[in-house]
Amino acid sequence: MKSALEIAAAVRGGQSALVAVEESLTAIRARNEELNVFLYVDEDGARAAAAHVDEQVRRGEDPGLLAGVPIALKDNLCTTGIPTTCSSKILEGWKPPYNATVVDRLVAQGAISMGKTNLDEFAMGSSTENSAFGPTRNPLDPARVPGGSSGGSAAAVASNMTPISLGSDTGGSIRQPAALCGLVGVKPTYGLVSRYGLIAFASSLDQIGPFAHSVSDAALLLEAIAGHDPLDSTSLPEPTPSLLAHVNDGVAGKRVAIVRELVDGADEDVVRAVNKAVETLKDAGATIVELSIPELHLGLSAYYLIAPAEASSNLARFDGVRFGNRIDGEDVTAMMEATRTAGFGAEVKRRIMLGTYALSAGYFDAYYGQALKVRTRMIEAFATAYQQVDMIIGATTPSVAFEFGSKTNDPMAMYLNDVFTIPTNLAGEATISVPFGTGEANLPIGVQLLGPGRSEARLFAAARVLEIADGRA
Ligand code: GLN
Repeated sequence: MKSALEIAAAVRGGQSALVAVEESLTAIRARNEELNVFLYVDEDGARAAAAHVDEQVRRGEDPGLLAGVPIALKDNLCTTGIPTTCSSKILEGWKPPYNATVVDRLVAQGAISMGKTNLDEFAMGSSTENSAFGPTRNPLDPARVPGGSSGGSAAAVASNMTPISLGSDTGGSIRQPAALCGLVGVKPTYGLVSRYGLIAFASSLDQIGPFAHSVSDAALLLEAIAGHDPLDSTSLPEPTPSLLAHVNDGVAGKRVAIVRELVDGADEDVVRAVNKAVETLKDAGATIVELSIPELHLGLSAYYLIAPAEASSNLARFDGVRFGNRIDGEDVTAMMEATRTAGFGAEVKRRIMLGTYALSAGYFDAYYGQALKVRTRMIEAFATAYQQVDMIIGATTPSVAFEFGSKTNDPMAMYLNDVFTIPTNLAGEATISVPFGTGEANLPIGVQLLGPGRSEARLFAAARVLEIADGRA
C-alpha cells in the first residue's frame, strides 16, 4: 500500500479516492478474521466518503491534507451513528450521537475512516488481550501480541489494511504497540490534540496520536488533527505547529541525552539498538551526554495510583442508565451492580478497585496524594534535564513482541511493559517511538525520543535521521 502522502498526492492529481479505499477493503477482507483488527468495518461509509472527495476534486476544491487517505480509528473515539465499544461489553451496541473532534478534523482534511479497531477494554492493558471481543494478533507474527492498548490500530497499519491510524496513549498505548509492530507512534504533548469525544480513561494523561509506517506520514497526520479546540478545556491555545515541513531538519548541533533509567533492565538486543541509535545521532552531528534521572523509577508506581484513581471516577458513568447495556435488577442499586458486574472485564474491575481504594478518605493522602507529589517531582526532573539537552533517547519497551498468554496471569509483569513509556505521560510531554533495528526472532525494536512540551517537530527530525539510517526510507 502507498503512503498517506502518496495517496493524498494521487487523489489531488485526479486519481479516484475509491482506488485506495478498495485496496484497503481487500486487505481487511484478507486478514481481519485471522488478526481481529477491526471490530467494525464501515464499507458503505468509506465508499460514500471517497465519492465525496472525488466530487470535491472534480469541482476544483482541495479535499485537504489527507485527501482520500484511508484511516483506522481506535474504538474509544466517538463516531456519530457508528458503534463505539471501547472493547467492553458494557458499551456493546452503543452508537454515539456525536463525533470526536479528531474525527471531524479528519473528515475536514479528506481522510476516509475504514472503521473501528480493537483495544484492551477501556484502553487498560499492554497486549490487547483484555478486549471483550478477543485479542488482536501481531501481523508480523500471529503467535505474538501486537502490544496495547491500541493493538488494533497498530495491527491495521502493520498489515497494510490502512496506511495510517489513530490510537490513544495514557501510559504508552501508542508507543508500545508501535514498537512491537515496527511502526512510528507518537504521544503528542498533552493538550496538543483535542480529547473531546475520546472516551476517558485517565483524563490528565490521555492523548490521541498517530501510527504510521514513516515519520513523514506520522507528522502529516498529527498536523491534520492538532490544534486548539474550545470543546476541550485542557486544549492548548497556540496554533498548530508546522511539523511535516521540519522532518528533514536533521540533528546537527542538537544535544541529546541517553538516560540510564530509560534503558536499564531492557533485553540485550534492545540495549544494543538504543546504543546504535545514539551513535547514529552522533554521526549526524548531535552532541551526546549521559544522564541519570532517578525520579523516573517512581513513574510506574505513581501511574498505577493516578491512572486507576481517575479511571474509577471516569467509569462511574457506565451504570446501565445512560449508555450501552443494562441488566435489570429489583431496584436501581441492584440494576447498576448487575450491569457493572456483567459489563466490565477483570482488568477494568481491578483498576476501579485500586482507584477507589487510593481515593478513599482514609488512604487519600498516603496513596493518591503521594502519587501526585511524585508526579510533580518527575515534571521538575524532566524540566531540569531539558535545561541541559534538547531531547532524550531511550528504549520504548523492555523487549520485542511477546507471546500470547505469557503475561496474562501476572498483572505486574504486564504493567512493567510500560516502565519506559509512562514517565512522559505523567509529565505531559512529547514523545515518539521509531523502529530501529530488529531483535529476537527478527522482530522490530522501538527507540523512544522524548522532548519538552511542543517539541514534536524536533523529535520528528531526529526520528527521521534514525529511519533513514535503518534503511526504512
Ligand atoms: N498499559 C498501560 C495501562 O494498562 C497504558 C495504557 C494506555 O496507555 N492506555 O494502563
